[in-house]
Amino acid sequence: MLRTSTHIRTIVLQPTPFCNIRCRYCYLPSRDDTSRMSLQTIGATFRRVFESPYAGEQITVIWHAGEPMVLPVSYYEAAFELIESLRPAEVMIRHSFQTNGTLLTREWCELIRKWGVSIGVSVDGPQQLHDANRVTRSGKGTFDLAMRGIRLLQSEDIPFHVISVLSNASLEKPEELHAFYLEAGIVDVCFNVEESEGDHVSELMQQERAQVGERFHHFLQRFWKLSRQAPGINFIREIDGLIPRIFRPAEADTGNDQVEPLAMLNVDCKGNVGSFSPELLGYRNERYNDFLIGNVHRHSLKQMLHSTAMKAMVDDIQAGVEACRQECGYFSICGGGAPVNKLSENGTFASTQTSFCNLVQITPADLILSAFEHLDPTAVIAAQHNQTTAYAGHYR
Ligand code: SF4
Repeated sequence: MLRTSTHIRTIVLQPTPFCNIRCRYCYLPSRDDTSRMSLQTIGATFRRVFESPYAGEQITVIWHAGEPMVLPVSYYEAAFELIESLRPAEVMIRHSFQTNGTLLTREWCELIRKWGVSIGVSVDGPQQLHDANRVTRSGKGTFDLAMRGIRLLQSEDIPFHVISVLSNASLEKPEELHAFYLEAGIVDVCFNVEESEGDHVSELMQQERAQVGERFHHFLQRFWKLSRQAPGINFIREIDGLIPRIFRPAEADTGNDQVEPLAMLNVDCKGNVGSFSPELLGYRNERYNDFLIGNVHRHSLKQMLHSTAMKAMVDDIQAGVEACRQECGYFSICGGGAPVNKLSENGTFASTQTSFCNLVQITPADLILSAFEHLDPTAVIAAQHNQTTAYAGHYR
Protein backbone atom coordinates (compact mmCIF):
# COMPACT_ATOMS: atom_id res chain seq x y z
CA MET A 1 0.00 0.00 0.00
CA LEU A 2 1.12 3.55 -0.63
CA ARG A 3 0.04 4.61 2.83
CA THR A 4 -1.36 3.00 5.89
CA SER A 5 -2.96 6.20 7.23
CA THR A 6 -5.56 6.59 4.50
CA HIS A 7 -8.00 9.46 4.93
CA ILE A 8 -10.92 10.27 2.67
CA ARG A 9 -10.66 13.94 1.79
CA THR A 10 -12.87 14.13 -1.29
CA ILE A 11 -15.99 12.24 -2.34
CA VAL A 12 -17.01 12.71 -5.96
CA LEU A 13 -20.65 11.72 -6.43
CA GLN A 14 -22.38 11.23 -9.75
CA PRO A 15 -25.99 12.24 -9.02
CA THR A 16 -26.77 11.51 -12.68
CA PRO A 17 -24.68 10.84 -15.78
CA PHE A 18 -27.12 12.98 -17.82
CA CYS A 19 -26.20 16.40 -19.16
CA ASN A 20 -28.60 18.92 -20.67
CA ILE A 21 -26.02 20.22 -23.16
CA ARG A 22 -23.51 18.53 -25.46
CA CYS A 23 -20.09 20.16 -25.44
CA ARG A 24 -18.00 19.21 -28.46
CA TYR A 25 -15.07 18.12 -26.28
CA CYS A 26 -17.13 16.13 -23.76
CA TYR A 27 -15.65 12.73 -23.01
CA LEU A 28 -18.41 11.40 -20.72
CA PRO A 29 -19.57 8.08 -22.16
CA SER A 30 -23.06 8.09 -20.55
CA ARG A 31 -24.20 11.70 -20.91
CA ASP A 32 -27.58 10.56 -22.37
CA ASP A 33 -28.33 8.25 -19.44
CA THR A 34 -31.02 9.79 -17.22
CA SER A 35 -30.48 7.46 -14.23
CA ARG A 36 -30.14 9.19 -10.90
CA MET A 37 -28.45 8.23 -7.66
CA SER A 38 -31.10 7.21 -5.15
CA LEU A 39 -31.26 8.48 -1.59
CA GLN A 40 -30.58 4.87 -0.51
CA THR A 41 -27.29 4.95 -2.41
CA ILE A 42 -26.36 8.34 -0.96
CA GLY A 43 -27.18 7.06 2.54
CA ALA A 44 -25.23 3.82 2.00
CA THR A 45 -22.21 5.81 0.75
CA PHE A 46 -22.02 8.02 3.82
CA ARG A 47 -22.77 5.20 6.26
CA ARG A 48 -19.83 3.29 4.76
CA VAL A 49 -17.60 6.34 5.07
CA PHE A 50 -18.58 7.35 8.59
CA GLU A 51 -18.51 3.82 10.02
CA SER A 52 -15.01 3.26 8.59
CA PRO A 53 -11.73 4.37 10.19
CA TYR A 54 -10.91 6.35 7.02
CA ALA A 55 -13.13 9.47 7.18
CA GLY A 56 -10.98 12.62 7.11
CA GLU A 57 -11.78 15.54 9.42
CA GLN A 58 -12.81 17.65 6.43
CA ILE A 59 -14.46 16.08 3.42
CA THR A 60 -15.37 17.92 0.25
CA VAL A 61 -18.34 16.34 -1.54
CA ILE A 62 -18.25 17.17 -5.24
CA TRP A 63 -21.50 16.64 -7.16
CA HIS A 64 -20.17 16.12 -10.65
CA ALA A 65 -20.27 14.04 -13.85
CA GLY A 66 -23.22 14.90 -16.00
CA GLU A 67 -24.83 18.24 -15.11
CA PRO A 68 -25.82 18.17 -11.40
CA MET A 69 -28.51 20.85 -11.82
CA VAL A 70 -30.67 18.72 -14.14
CA LEU A 71 -31.99 17.21 -10.91
CA PRO A 72 -34.38 19.34 -8.85
CA VAL A 73 -33.37 21.48 -5.89
CA SER A 74 -35.54 19.25 -3.68
CA TYR A 75 -33.28 16.26 -4.54
CA TYR A 76 -30.24 18.01 -3.06
CA GLU A 77 -32.21 19.38 -0.12
CA ALA A 78 -33.13 15.78 0.80
CA ALA A 79 -29.59 14.50 0.08
CA PHE A 80 -27.89 17.21 2.18
CA GLU A 81 -30.32 16.63 5.06
CA LEU A 82 -29.65 12.90 4.95
CA ILE A 83 -25.86 13.34 4.94
CA GLU A 84 -26.14 15.85 7.78
CA SER A 85 -28.19 13.39 9.83
CA LEU A 86 -25.45 10.75 9.45
CA ARG A 87 -22.42 13.03 9.91
CA PRO A 88 -20.38 12.53 13.09
CA ALA A 89 -19.72 15.81 14.93
CA GLU A 90 -15.96 15.63 14.33
CA VAL A 91 -16.28 15.45 10.52
CA MET A 92 -16.85 18.64 8.52
CA ILE A 93 -18.58 18.37 5.15
CA ARG A 94 -18.41 20.94 2.35
CA HIS A 95 -20.58 20.46 -0.72
CA SER A 96 -19.45 21.62 -4.13
CA PHE A 97 -21.07 21.81 -7.60
CA GLN A 98 -19.37 22.10 -10.95
CA THR A 99 -22.10 23.29 -13.29
CA ASN A 100 -22.58 24.62 -16.81
CA GLY A 101 -24.66 27.38 -15.20
CA THR A 102 -27.50 27.18 -17.71
CA LEU A 103 -30.11 25.98 -15.21
CA LEU A 104 -29.37 28.31 -12.29
CA THR A 105 -32.43 29.95 -10.72
CA ARG A 106 -33.16 31.88 -7.53
CA GLU A 107 -34.26 28.61 -5.92
CA TRP A 108 -30.78 27.17 -6.59
CA CYS A 109 -29.23 30.29 -5.10
CA GLU A 110 -31.24 29.76 -1.91
CA LEU A 111 -29.98 26.17 -1.63
CA ILE A 112 -26.39 27.26 -2.32
CA ARG A 113 -26.55 29.97 0.33
CA LYS A 114 -28.34 27.82 2.92
CA TRP A 115 -25.78 25.01 2.69
CA GLY A 116 -22.70 27.10 1.92
CA VAL A 117 -22.18 25.18 -1.33
CA SER A 118 -19.06 26.03 -3.30
CA ILE A 119 -19.82 26.74 -6.98
CA GLY A 120 -17.75 26.42 -10.13
CA VAL A 121 -19.25 27.51 -13.45
CA SER A 122 -17.87 26.31 -16.79
CA VAL A 123 -17.46 29.23 -19.20
CA ASP A 124 -14.87 29.22 -21.97
CA GLY A 125 -14.41 32.99 -22.34
CA PRO A 126 -16.06 35.43 -24.74
CA GLN A 127 -19.09 34.31 -26.73
CA GLN A 128 -17.27 33.31 -29.91
CA LEU A 129 -14.85 31.03 -28.03
CA HIS A 130 -17.49 29.64 -25.68
CA ASP A 131 -20.09 28.92 -28.36
CA ALA A 132 -17.54 27.16 -30.58
CA ASN A 133 -17.65 24.18 -28.22
CA ARG A 134 -20.23 24.55 -25.48
CA VAL A 135 -23.47 23.90 -27.35
CA THR A 136 -26.98 22.59 -26.71
CA ARG A 137 -28.13 19.20 -27.89
CA SER A 138 -29.38 20.93 -31.08
CA GLY A 139 -25.99 22.61 -31.62
CA LYS A 140 -26.77 26.18 -30.45
CA GLY A 141 -24.27 28.13 -28.35
CA THR A 142 -24.93 28.23 -24.59
CA PHE A 143 -23.07 31.46 -23.82
CA ASP A 144 -26.18 33.56 -23.11
CA LEU A 145 -27.63 30.92 -20.79
CA ALA A 146 -24.36 30.45 -18.89
CA MET A 147 -23.91 34.22 -18.50
CA ARG A 148 -27.48 34.59 -17.27
CA GLY A 149 -26.54 32.08 -14.54
CA ILE A 150 -23.37 33.99 -13.69
CA ARG A 151 -25.20 37.30 -13.45
CA LEU A 152 -27.74 35.67 -11.18
CA LEU A 153 -25.00 34.43 -8.82
CA GLN A 154 -23.50 37.92 -8.81
CA SER A 155 -26.83 39.60 -8.11
CA GLU A 156 -27.35 37.17 -5.21
CA ASP A 157 -23.84 37.89 -3.92
CA ILE A 158 -22.79 34.24 -4.18
CA PRO A 159 -19.06 33.71 -4.71
CA PHE A 160 -18.04 31.32 -7.49
CA HIS A 161 -15.09 30.40 -9.64
CA VAL A 162 -15.01 29.83 -13.36
CA ILE A 163 -13.35 26.96 -15.21
CA SER A 164 -12.45 27.73 -18.82
CA VAL A 165 -11.31 25.04 -21.22
CA LEU A 166 -8.56 26.39 -23.46
CA SER A 167 -8.91 25.26 -27.06
CA ASN A 168 -6.49 25.58 -29.92
CA ALA A 169 -8.08 28.97 -30.72
CA SER A 170 -8.25 30.39 -27.19
CA LEU A 171 -4.58 29.65 -26.42
CA GLU A 172 -3.80 32.51 -28.81
CA LYS A 173 -6.15 34.93 -27.04
CA PRO A 174 -5.07 35.71 -23.45
CA GLU A 175 -5.98 39.40 -23.92
CA GLU A 176 -9.52 38.57 -25.07
CA LEU A 177 -10.08 36.18 -22.18
CA HIS A 178 -8.69 38.65 -19.68
CA ALA A 179 -10.90 41.48 -21.00
CA PHE A 180 -13.92 39.18 -20.91
CA TYR A 181 -13.43 38.22 -17.24
CA LEU A 182 -12.92 41.85 -16.25
CA GLU A 183 -16.02 43.00 -18.08
CA ALA A 184 -18.09 40.12 -16.65
CA GLY A 185 -16.84 40.77 -13.09
CA ILE A 186 -15.31 37.26 -12.86
CA VAL A 187 -12.51 37.29 -10.28
CA ASP A 188 -11.55 33.65 -9.73
CA VAL A 189 -10.43 31.63 -12.77
CA CYS A 190 -9.12 28.15 -13.53
CA PHE A 191 -7.85 26.91 -16.89
CA ASN A 192 -8.03 23.39 -18.30
CA VAL A 193 -6.23 22.85 -21.57
CA GLU A 194 -8.47 20.75 -23.83
CA GLU A 195 -7.36 17.14 -23.60
CA SER A 196 -8.05 13.95 -25.52
CA GLU A 197 -10.22 11.88 -23.20
CA GLY A 198 -12.54 8.94 -23.78
CA ASP A 199 -13.55 9.07 -27.44
CA HIS A 200 -12.79 12.80 -27.80
CA VAL A 201 -9.59 13.61 -29.70
CA SER A 202 -8.39 17.15 -28.99
CA GLU A 203 -7.02 19.20 -31.88
CA LEU A 204 -4.36 20.44 -29.48
CA MET A 205 -3.16 17.00 -28.54
CA GLN A 206 -2.38 16.29 -32.22
CA GLN A 207 0.44 18.82 -31.89
CA GLU A 208 3.86 18.10 -30.44
CA ARG A 209 3.83 17.96 -26.64
CA ALA A 210 6.58 20.62 -26.42
CA GLN A 211 4.73 22.94 -28.79
CA VAL A 212 1.50 22.82 -26.76
CA GLY A 213 3.53 23.40 -23.59
CA GLU A 214 5.19 26.44 -25.13
CA ARG A 215 1.88 27.88 -26.30
CA PHE A 216 0.34 27.40 -22.85
CA HIS A 217 3.43 28.99 -21.28
CA HIS A 218 2.96 32.12 -23.39
CA PHE A 219 -0.75 32.22 -22.69
CA LEU A 220 -0.33 31.92 -18.92
CA GLN A 221 2.58 34.33 -18.75
CA ARG A 222 0.61 36.98 -20.63
CA PHE A 223 -2.58 36.37 -18.68
CA TRP A 224 -0.77 36.53 -15.33
CA LYS A 225 0.98 39.74 -16.30
CA LEU A 226 -2.28 41.38 -17.41
CA SER A 227 -3.97 40.29 -14.19
CA ARG A 228 -1.25 41.80 -12.03
CA GLN A 229 -1.15 45.04 -14.01
CA ALA A 230 -4.78 45.94 -13.37
CA PRO A 231 -7.08 45.01 -10.48
CA GLY A 232 -9.94 42.61 -11.20
CA ILE A 233 -8.70 39.01 -11.21
CA ASN A 234 -8.04 37.89 -7.64
CA PHE A 235 -7.11 34.26 -8.16
CA ILE A 236 -5.65 32.24 -11.02
CA ARG A 237 -5.65 28.61 -9.97
CA GLU A 238 -2.64 27.69 -12.11
CA ILE A 239 -0.57 30.38 -10.39
CA ASP A 240 -2.07 31.28 -7.02
CA GLY A 241 -3.12 27.68 -6.36
CA LEU A 242 0.36 26.34 -7.11
CA ILE A 243 2.37 28.84 -5.07
CA PRO A 244 1.53 27.16 -1.72
CA ARG A 245 2.75 23.84 -3.14
CA ILE A 246 6.06 25.34 -4.21
CA PHE A 247 6.73 27.38 -1.09
CA ARG A 248 5.82 25.02 1.69
CA PRO A 249 7.79 23.52 4.57
CA ALA A 250 10.23 20.85 3.39
CA GLU A 251 8.62 18.18 5.58
CA ALA A 252 5.09 18.86 4.29
CA ASP A 253 3.29 16.13 2.36
CA THR A 254 2.97 16.62 -1.40
CA GLY A 255 -0.77 16.11 -0.85
CA ASN A 256 -1.58 14.37 -4.12
CA ASP A 257 -4.95 12.74 -3.43
CA GLN A 258 -5.03 11.12 -6.86
CA VAL A 259 -2.28 8.63 -5.95
CA GLU A 260 -3.41 7.81 -2.43
CA PRO A 261 -5.90 4.93 -2.02
CA LEU A 262 -9.31 6.18 -0.80
CA ALA A 263 -8.18 9.82 -0.47
CA MET A 264 -10.64 10.41 -3.31
CA LEU A 265 -13.71 8.22 -3.27
CA ASN A 266 -15.60 8.29 -6.57
CA VAL A 267 -19.14 6.89 -6.55
CA ASP A 268 -21.38 6.46 -9.61
CA CYS A 269 -25.17 6.68 -9.52
CA LYS A 270 -25.51 2.92 -8.94
CA GLY A 271 -23.18 2.94 -5.94
CA ASN A 272 -20.12 1.54 -7.73
CA VAL A 273 -16.93 2.88 -6.18
CA GLY A 274 -13.58 3.85 -7.62
CA SER A 275 -10.62 5.71 -6.22
CA PHE A 276 -7.70 7.77 -7.59
CA SER A 277 -8.55 9.96 -10.64
CA PRO A 278 -12.35 10.45 -10.82
CA GLU A 279 -12.29 10.20 -14.64
CA LEU A 280 -11.44 6.48 -14.33
CA LEU A 281 -14.98 5.74 -13.15
CA GLY A 282 -16.93 4.55 -16.20
CA TYR A 283 -13.90 3.41 -18.22
CA ARG A 284 -13.42 -0.25 -19.14
CA ASN A 285 -10.29 -2.15 -18.11
CA GLU A 286 -9.87 -5.87 -17.61
CA ARG A 287 -6.71 -5.73 -15.48
CA TYR A 288 -8.29 -3.40 -12.92
CA ASN A 289 -11.92 -4.62 -12.94
CA ASP A 290 -13.03 -1.46 -14.79
CA PHE A 291 -11.34 0.49 -11.96
CA LEU A 292 -14.12 -0.56 -9.55
CA ILE A 293 -13.18 -1.56 -6.01
CA GLY A 294 -16.68 -2.35 -4.75
CA ASN A 295 -20.24 -1.12 -4.34
CA VAL A 296 -21.57 0.80 -1.34
CA HIS A 297 -24.56 -1.55 -1.09
CA ARG A 298 -22.40 -4.66 -0.73
CA HIS A 299 -18.93 -3.79 0.51
CA SER A 300 -17.36 -1.98 3.43
CA LEU A 301 -14.53 0.46 2.73
CA LYS A 302 -12.15 -1.97 4.37
CA GLN A 303 -13.16 -4.65 1.89
CA MET A 304 -12.74 -2.14 -0.95
CA LEU A 305 -9.28 -1.15 0.28
CA HIS A 306 -8.24 -4.82 0.23
CA SER A 307 -9.96 -5.73 -3.05
CA THR A 308 -7.97 -7.34 -5.87
CA ALA A 309 -8.59 -4.35 -8.17
CA MET A 310 -7.36 -1.89 -5.53
CA LYS A 311 -4.20 -3.93 -4.90
CA ALA A 312 -3.43 -4.13 -8.63
CA MET A 313 -3.94 -0.38 -9.07
CA VAL A 314 -1.93 0.52 -5.98
CA ASP A 315 1.03 -1.61 -7.10
CA ASP A 316 1.18 0.08 -10.49
CA ILE A 317 0.40 3.60 -9.29
CA GLN A 318 3.04 3.25 -6.59
CA ALA A 319 5.59 2.12 -9.18
CA GLY A 320 4.77 5.25 -11.21
CA VAL A 321 5.08 7.52 -8.19
CA GLU A 322 8.43 5.99 -7.23
CA ALA A 323 9.72 6.47 -10.79
CA CYS A 324 8.56 10.11 -10.63
CA ARG A 325 10.34 10.55 -7.29
CA GLN A 326 13.59 9.27 -8.81
CA GLU A 327 13.43 11.02 -12.16
CA CYS A 328 11.45 14.24 -11.96
CA GLY A 329 12.66 17.58 -10.63
CA TYR A 330 9.06 18.65 -10.06
CA PHE A 331 8.13 15.74 -7.80
CA SER A 332 8.02 17.83 -4.63
CA ILE A 333 5.34 20.02 -6.24
CA CYS A 334 3.40 17.34 -8.05
CA GLY A 335 3.64 14.21 -5.93
CA GLY A 336 3.42 11.84 -8.89
CA GLY A 337 0.74 13.23 -11.18
CA ALA A 338 -2.64 11.97 -12.32
CA PRO A 339 -2.95 8.19 -12.87
CA VAL A 340 -5.65 8.65 -15.53
CA ASN A 341 -3.29 10.68 -17.71
CA LYS A 342 -0.41 8.26 -17.24
CA LEU A 343 -2.63 5.39 -18.30
CA SER A 344 -4.21 7.14 -21.29
CA GLU A 345 -1.00 8.76 -22.58
CA ASN A 346 1.66 6.20 -21.65
CA GLY A 347 -0.46 3.05 -21.51
CA THR A 348 0.41 2.29 -17.88
CA PHE A 349 0.08 3.74 -14.38
CA ALA A 350 3.70 2.70 -13.81
CA SER A 351 5.13 5.60 -15.82
CA THR A 352 6.16 9.23 -15.46
CA GLN A 353 5.85 12.24 -17.78
CA THR A 354 2.68 13.14 -19.67
CA SER A 355 1.37 16.22 -21.49
CA PHE A 356 -0.68 16.79 -18.38
CA CYS A 357 2.56 17.18 -16.33
CA ASN A 358 3.79 19.74 -18.75
CA LEU A 359 0.59 21.77 -18.66
CA VAL A 360 -0.50 21.45 -15.06
CA GLN A 361 2.79 21.29 -13.15
CA ILE A 362 5.88 22.15 -15.17
CA THR A 363 4.75 25.21 -17.15
CA PRO A 364 3.12 27.06 -14.22
CA ALA A 365 5.94 26.09 -11.82
CA ASP A 366 8.58 27.40 -14.25
CA LEU A 367 6.68 30.66 -14.62
CA ILE A 368 6.39 31.12 -10.87
CA LEU A 369 10.04 30.24 -10.25
CA SER A 370 11.18 32.63 -12.92
CA ALA A 371 9.04 35.41 -11.38
CA PHE A 372 10.52 34.47 -7.99
CA GLU A 373 13.98 35.43 -9.30
CA HIS A 374 12.77 39.02 -9.78
CA LEU A 375 11.30 39.40 -6.31
CA ASP A 376 12.87 41.28 -3.43
CA PRO A 377 14.28 39.02 -0.64
CA THR A 378 11.61 39.92 1.93
CA ALA A 379 8.89 38.64 -0.36
CA VAL A 380 10.81 35.42 -0.87
CA ILE A 381 11.13 34.83 2.87
CA ALA A 382 7.41 35.48 3.33
CA ALA A 383 6.62 33.00 0.61
CA GLN A 384 8.88 30.35 2.08
CA HIS A 385 7.01 30.68 5.36
CA ASN A 386 3.91 29.82 3.45
CA GLN A 387 2.52 33.34 3.53
CA THR A 388 1.39 32.80 0.04
CA THR A 389 -1.04 35.65 -0.24
CA ALA A 390 1.74 38.11 0.53
CA TYR A 391 3.88 36.45 -2.12
CA ALA A 392 1.23 36.57 -4.80
CA GLY A 393 0.61 40.23 -4.10
CA HIS A 394 4.28 41.09 -4.68
CA TYR A 395 4.27 40.10 -8.30
CA ARG A 396 3.02 43.19 -10.07
S1 SF4 B 1 5.37 16.33 -13.20
FE1 SF4 B 1 4.96 14.37 -14.22
S2 SF4 B 1 6.87 13.26 -14.14
FE2 SF4 B 1 6.98 14.93 -12.63
S3 SF4 B 1 6.29 14.03 -10.67
FE3 SF4 B 1 4.53 14.88 -11.71
S4 SF4 B 1 3.66 13.15 -12.88
FE4 SF4 B 1 5.74 12.61 -12.35
